[in-house]
Amino acid sequence: MKVGFIGLGIMGKPMAKNLVAAGYKLVVSDLKKEAEKELEALGAQTAQSIVELAQQCEVIVTMLPNSPEVKQVVLGEGGVIEGAKAGTTVIDMSSIAPLASREIYAALEKKGVHLLDAPVSGGEPKAIEGTLAVMVGGDKAIFDKYYDLMMVMAGSVVYVGESGAGNITKLCNQVVVALNISAVSEALVLAKKAGADPELVYQAIRGGLAGSTVMDAKAPMIMDRNFKPGFRIDLHIKDLNNAIDTSHNVGVPLPLTAQVMEIMQAIKLDGSGVEDHASLVKYFEKLANI
Ligand code: NAD
Repeated sequence: MKVGFIGLGIMGKPMAKNLVAAGYKLVVSDLKKEAEKELEALGAQTAQSIVELAQQCEVIVTMLPNSPEVKQVVLGEGGVIEGAKAGTTVIDMSSIAPLASREIYAALEKKGVHLLDAPVSGGEPKAIEGTLAVMVGGDKAIFDKYYDLMMVMAGSVVYVGESGAGNITKLCNQVVVALNISAVSEALVLAKKAGADPELVYQAIRGGLAGSTVMDAKAPMIMDRNFKPGFRIDLHIKDLNNAIDTSHNVGVPLPLTAQVMEIMQAIKLDGSGVEDHASLVKYFEKLANI
């Protein structure tokens, strides 16, 4: 079976490498030719075009920034839809708007092509380890068929419902992560200004109720002033925008999420949009004048 992989960025590149290491025959594509070359050196092929890639592959994974890019690559001119045969499956592992997933699902369905929306959580370290958490929406039979393939990149792969449910789940994940980083940031700024050592505060509280995966990932980055992404602030703004849009459509106020999104916008305007979302702490430091 040939597997197409489109989008070899911070996440897609290590995910594709894990598929190659597991013995899958990959055909890869990215706008950045050096990323394609890195995969070629490991045994993957490249295609002349997305259409040619789609003609060759039974299943195509996409790992792109947001809804417009996924729509363009899958449904646009010269996109997957022009090359894919009936029975092909697209597994979109990007984090995009649930409504966009449903639109793409419906357009592909007309050609007998399947779509799973299968966004991931865990960031670059878990993408490298192959231990991502994958949340999957779409047809259950298609989920079952490609469970093993997704597990190559993951520690857990959970079916969460029909098309769009994977990205609804991911938005919930992003709300929790954004608010949790904000809480960790506020607490570490309080510790510092009140005269306690933030490192010792972190060590003392991480094993209690306040401890979390987010705290263990981001508190050390904050204290080391390491804001290399990881997960860029501008991608997190994209996710919170999608969460707020979705919440408006269904009538759920998200007051805390909206506030953190505004904080992220301020950080982006300060020139830090390309930094890791741990740089959220800079806003709280500015407020506290430290
Ligand atoms: P990235 O910007 O590093 O990678 C995106 C890749 O897509 C780039 O290499 C880009 O060149 C490529 N691309 C864009 N348009 C293309 C096109 N038309 N054809 C071919 N390639 C194209 O982003 P990332 O951090 O890898 O994130 C990818 C997705 O995963 C996003 O939806 C993001 O929200 C999600 N995600 C990221 C993380 C993280 O920690 N970085 C964690 C979980 C989920």
